[in-house]
Amino acid sequence: MDILHVSAECYPVAKAGGLGDVVGALPKYMNELGHTARVVMPMYRTKFLYANEWEVVHKGNTNMASWWFEFTIIKEKTNKLGFELYLVDVNGLLDREKVYGYSDDTERFTAFQICVLDWLNAWAQKPDVLHVHDHQAALIPFMVKNCPKYRPLSRIPTVLTIHNAQYQGWMPWNRSVLIPQWDMWKWGMLDWNNTINPLASGIKCADKVTTVSPNYLQELKWMSNGLEALFEYEKGKCVGILNGIDDKVWDPQTDEYLQHHFSIDDVEAGKAKSKMLLCDQFGLDFDKPLIGFIGRLVGEKGADVLPRAIGDSFYFIGRRMDFLVLGSGFPEVEAGLAALKPLSQYDYNVYIGYNEALSHLMYAGLDFLLMPSRVEPCGLNQMYAMRYGTVPMVRRTGGLRDTVIDYGDPGGYGICYNHTSVPDITHAVWRAAELYRDKEKMHVIRQNMMKLDFSWETSVKHYIDIYQSL
Ligand code: ADP
Repeated sequence: MDILHVSAECYPVAKAGGLGDVVGALPKYMNELGHTARVVMPMYRTKFLYANEWEVVHKGNTNMASWWFEFTIIKEKTNKLGFELYLVDVNGLLDREKVYGYSDDTERFTAFQICVLDWLNAWAQKPDVLHVHDHQAALIPFMVKNCPKYRPLSRIPTVLTIHNAQYQGWMPWNRSVLIPQWDMWKWGMLDWNNTINPLASGIKCADKVTTVSPNYLQELKWMSNGLEALFEYEKGKCVGILNGIDDKVWDPQTDEYLQHHFSIDDVEAGKAKSKMLLCDQFGLDFDKPLIGFIGRLVGEKGADVLPRAIGDSFYFIGRRMDFLVLGSGFPEVEAGLAALKPLSQYDYNVYIGYNEALSHLMYAGLDFLLMPSRVEPCGLNQMYAMRYGTVPMVRRTGGLRDTVIDYGDPGGYGICYNHTSVPDITHAVWRAAELYRDKEKMHVIRQNMMKLDFSWETSVKHYIDIYQSL
């Protein structure tokens, strides 16, 4: 089959979170199964852009409301990512340093989608499926069905994958002119609560909707930032498919970010070497269990409770463990974490910022990875952690519930708790410290986790089944 993925992120070109990881891996595995999957995304000013060679494959003129502009589609020459990668260049609009966070993001991503469809209009052989990801590409199912300009595309089936339903791309109705002329009586397909809601529109108009874990799909029916009734109504076309991880990038035996590689046979020694590097770099005590957090410092991830949970852990359990935090996000959370530093010596440190290399070293060197998420559509960190023999400490939610079994339950290996609260996290920390004392049990758990299969092969087959059903 011939599949075109449309997304705002794709690793390693540009990544702000899990969306990038998934779109960077899924097409590669589809191609390995003999399909042709391509990716199109905006052209940002990223390192990847300057480090690679590109050829121009299309030039066009189009408009968004009364603004006429030129756009160019460029293709990476060597297919080094394992799939054809296309970037949409709109001068001054898409070619920014960051992926998100600009006041004109609505215009940026609407223009991106218009360019993609204009370009597709010119394809002689159309793709079999349009697979769009998150709200930045979620107007496409509406546009192909309801904009006369895109009538040549109207028979291509569309699939929308929701990586995170918290962000919906809302725009007020006075922006409806940004969408190329559309059949006015279909306004209900754009509207949700008196605003244009691209994610809601995608759910209504796409032929199939997928979420990145089965449990997240269930949760969306009672907690999805206002779309609960819509998920209930459209449940017939929704499917939850657990993400895989790119086990070629995330492999402790070959990880290019690691100095010391290891496998299931020498996991203890291998992890100890990476832990030593972390302890040296961050002034931590090697002998204590090392508990880490990696991620965006936002409420969704439960990062706001971290400062108190760490403080309370030291107070109630004693200084029996080290904590290391890597992330950036809300300034208050960053300040709260930084404020803990002077109170701790040799058992706590924080790195504020985004650092891919450090994240790999942490997955390898940590003993435990803390994930007190309030919302976790799938969660990749826990899967990376387990692949590197690091025990996940997760709140039972979304994909975390689908992937981690508490070590107290039959066949279990992780530490699970029910609430994003200081007492629950502190209790989990205590359980981690106790587990760490039992070296033999820890070793068995590490080995069991490393044997788990979170590869993409299984998930990709589910997606292909969905395409074929359409
Ligand atoms: P989300 O997409 O909600 O942020 P995911 O668990 O799906 O969460 O994906 C997070 C990805 O981003 C993981 O690959 C994680 O390692 C990475 N990541 C998050 N924050 C940082 C950071 N500060 N430095 C390096 N990598 C990070």
